[in-house]
Amino acid sequence: MKLLMEESREGRHLSLFPKMDVPEVLPPEEDRRAEAPDLPQLSEIQLSRHYSKLDRRSHGVNDGFYPLGSCTMKYNPAVNEETAALPGFGAVHPLQDEKSVQGCLQVLGELGTRLAAITGMQTFTFQPAAGAHGEFTGLLLIKAYHKSRGDSARTKIIVPDSAHGTNPASAAMAGYDVVNIPSSEDGCVDIDALRAAVGPDTAGLMLTNPNTVGLFDRNILTITKIVHEAGGLCYYDGANLNAIMGIVRPGDMGFDVMHLNLHKTFSTPHGGGGPGSGPVGCKDFLAKFLPGEVVVKGADGTYHMEKPEASIGSMRSFHGNFLVAVRALTYLLMLGREGVPKAAANAVLNANYMRVKLADVYPVAYNVTCMHEFVLSLKKLKSETGVSALDAAKGLLDYGIHPPTMYFPLIVHEALMIEPTETETRETLDEAIQALREINDLAHTDPDALHSAPHHAAITRPDEVQAARHPKLRWTREE
Ligand SMILES: *Cc1c(COP(=O)(O)O)cnc(C)c1O
Repeated sequence: MKLLMEESREGRHLSLFPKMDVPEVLPPEEDRRAEAPDLPQLSEIQLSRHYSKLDRRSHGVNDGFYPLGSCTMKYNPAVNEETAALPGFGAVHPLQDEKSVQGCLQVLGELGTRLAAITGMQTFTFQPAAGAHGEFTGLLLIKAYHKSRGDSARTKIIVPDSAHGTNPASAAMAGYDVVNIPSSEDGCVDIDALRAAVGPDTAGLMLTNPNTVGLFDRNILTITKIVHEAGGLCYYDGANLNAIMGIVRPGDMGFDVMHLNLHKTFSTPHGGGGPGSGPVGCKDFLAKFLPGEVVVKGADGTYHMEKPEASIGSMRSFHGNFLVAVRALTYLLMLGREGVPKAAANAVLNANYMRVKLADVYPVAYNVTCMHEFVLSLKKLKSETGVSALDAAKGLLDYGIHPPTMYFPLIVHEALMIEPTETETRETLDEAIQALREINDLAHTDPDALHSAPHHAAITRPDEVQAARHPKLRWTREE
């Protein structure tokens, strides 16, 4: 497929700017560029076809099943987009007078209130632009808290080995030393290892519950108590709240600060690098450190923005990716009080349905009732047939199914992590189960067919190492 730059021809254009209705003012001489930018020159139909072609070559949640574990690829209702496209939301400017954007502030205020009710936190900031950005923000809050108490000895963040890769990365970015603790036999936090790891140098713990093998850690109250008794704080990675929203709350589990991925659980399309939102919520005692400005509702019912008194600063410009918040509030209002826990229950039901129907052919890592996702291990299949988790995932592409998450979590060998989400029908789940069973049969009869899969995709086996080590991020004109 040709790039737009390769299709470009000098003088071809599609720009039809409206007639100027204000005087033309050029920027000062020193700010002007010396030559015109090298932009592609195309007709409108060329552009339109280019994007249609790209669309056909990719797989989105609207094209087919997308059980990418830990990513919550649920269907995002179209009504969210309609709301986000309203000019009162889409055409406002962050520097507008607060009086003229009361509705927008109300969206942030009401969403914050609802997320606080769902999570058991007290105040939310919408500045962080994604989950990892939220983690980084939360860790800076923890840091500010210890510093405000004159406690400079706390230099370590404890992260279990089943954590999402962003957790240790965020802790390191925030200037902490990462202490890894192993999981126990049952896939949960090893309590003895945790007890041995905490001390006067513990700044906090980062944890997600359910964890990345899809299990709810029954010792969660013990875990947060151990950390608190050692003087540390507890950070909850709430990127995937799908299994517990409306049912149990991280705040009640003993967590002090957390982030949510609105672009996962709370329904904004993601996966192509589009705008995300990783709001951070905290308990009252941390609220004075929150970044940027938070929405406050005055006694007269109007809203304004306020900078918290000991704010850590700004994590990005203005108030975050506002339209993602609009989508999340729309989603919550459409689901209502009963719909939220029902969505969670269906997510758990769908995951367990698939787990039980696959367990006889693919060993399930920790085969007990799971939450919103579960992990299969293809270690045995690989040693018997040579077919790896990667081969099986590639095989699924030929069924029009997006592969599950592969080789994660790291504690499971040849892992395939499946998260069906609540929005899939039983028929879709049955088709996926059938596909995975056929792949298992094929692995035993014709493994080469899987080594060379996919056979019907636009791109088959890209050189992933080359792509990661030497990414070509920029097109350059051949002279
Ligand atoms: C997706 C995810 C993250 C990171 O979120 P981004 O928005 O991609 O930065 C963190 N933790 C968990 C458990 C996740 O699933």
